[in-house]
Amino acid sequence: MRFELFPLFLGSIHLIKSLPVVDDALRQKREKERNEAIYAQFESIFPALPPKNVPLQPGDYYSLRQIENFMYQLAETHANTTVITVGRSEQNREILGVQLGIDETKPYVVIDAGIHAREWSAIHVGYYLIERYSKLLESKDAMISRFLSHFNLVIVPVLNPDGYIYTRDEVTEPFKHRLWRKNRSTMRCFSRIRCCEGVDLNRNWDLAFTAKTDGVEDPCSDVYPGPKPFSEAETRTYSEWLRSLPKLEAYFTLHSHGQLWLYPYAYAKETYPKSIERAVYVSEKVVEAIYRYNGTRYYHGSPADMLYTSPGSSMDWVQRELNPKFAFTIEVRPLTKEYGFILEKSLLIPASEEIFIGINVVLEESIRFRQFPYQFTGTTQRPRPRVEMLEQKDPVDPSDEKFDEAWMKWIDS
Ligand SMILES: [Zn+2]
Repeated sequence: MRFELFPLFLGSIHLIKSLPVVDDALRQKREKERNEAIYAQFESIFPALPPKNVPLQPGDYYSLRQIENFMYQLAETHANTTVITVGRSEQNREILGVQLGIDETKPYVVIDAGIHAREWSAIHVGYYLIERYSKLLESKDAMISRFLSHFNLVIVPVLNPDGYIYTRDEVTEPFKHRLWRKNRSTMRCFSRIRCCEGVDLNRNWDLAFTAKTDGVEDPCSDVYPGPKPFSEAETRTYSEWLRSLPKLEAYFTLHSHGQLWLYPYAYAKETYPKSIERAVYVSEKVVEAIYRYNGTRYYHGSPADMLYTSPGSSMDWVQRELNPKFAFTIEVRPLTKEYGFILEKSLLIPASEEIFIGINVVLEESIRFRQFPYQFTGTTQRPRPRVEMLEQKDPVDPSDEKFDEAWMKWIDS
């Protein structure tokens, strides 16, 4: 018996020896190699950095300065359009948004992008939406006029400016840190030996916050939530600005990637706010509209059900604290996991237009629902909403006057 166990024992030794020792230098080396491999593969879509002072045209990636110049130019040349400061970064940069509509008494619709630095396609959707809505406003389009008769619209294309600049590394080594996710707050250490910069800003909000990732307070984790809720300037100042709004009608936060239209909550599986049925109903409409537009398949659900649980997220905090009619996290294209944070330039405009269509569906529905009072009373634990629940309903023509009545009856049940 002892002889038989001996090779097994040796095997275990071998296994222990072969376990990778991941120190920071090795990790950084691997990250660099991986980034270089990605960069080599996609070199064709990253030609020379765009020159400064070239007017921004959607369908390309731009620097923070170019995006901000574009926002200021737009505000100068368009009525009813202003550039506003919605917060401040750890490195003391202003976080800017464009506001369409200037009636402070109206509720707000807020769209942000780029809380995660590497999610460039989501940032593109942000400035695409600014361009798209402002052009419609200029041409006195009926839809945008209707929207602005009900709300002010604010779009924040780069919520994490320090991180975005870092991913571009324009001065030193382009794209070395292309896959950086967090902000750029100063180094924090775990056990005095493991020290890293940055906090995941989408884990730092004061809702179900936990300082631990996989049981450890590891500042080197990509999803390090920070030492305490709102420890970061970005989340602290931006949440204060959101709280200062007279009323929030709808909140959208743009991420990449995965083609997902997600409603609260992210912090726990099968946990939803009271407004869940309304969110599911509208999400169904959104994914249908996008599919009809160009055949892109989006899926809806809560982040916890569809992906993984993520405490301390912006959507959850906004839903619980500010109680808007709608709060969505949108994971834009692509669907694929391979090179998911790098979207080919040729796909940027279709990937953005479909989000534009989805947001319009929500805003149209929001206007339709305005006549119904809605109160939030707290978290409810209820079965995961299923598509069949909606399909079981008798088909009702939305143009029918009785449609709303039928809908209200259903959500009350
Ligand atoms: Zn993200």
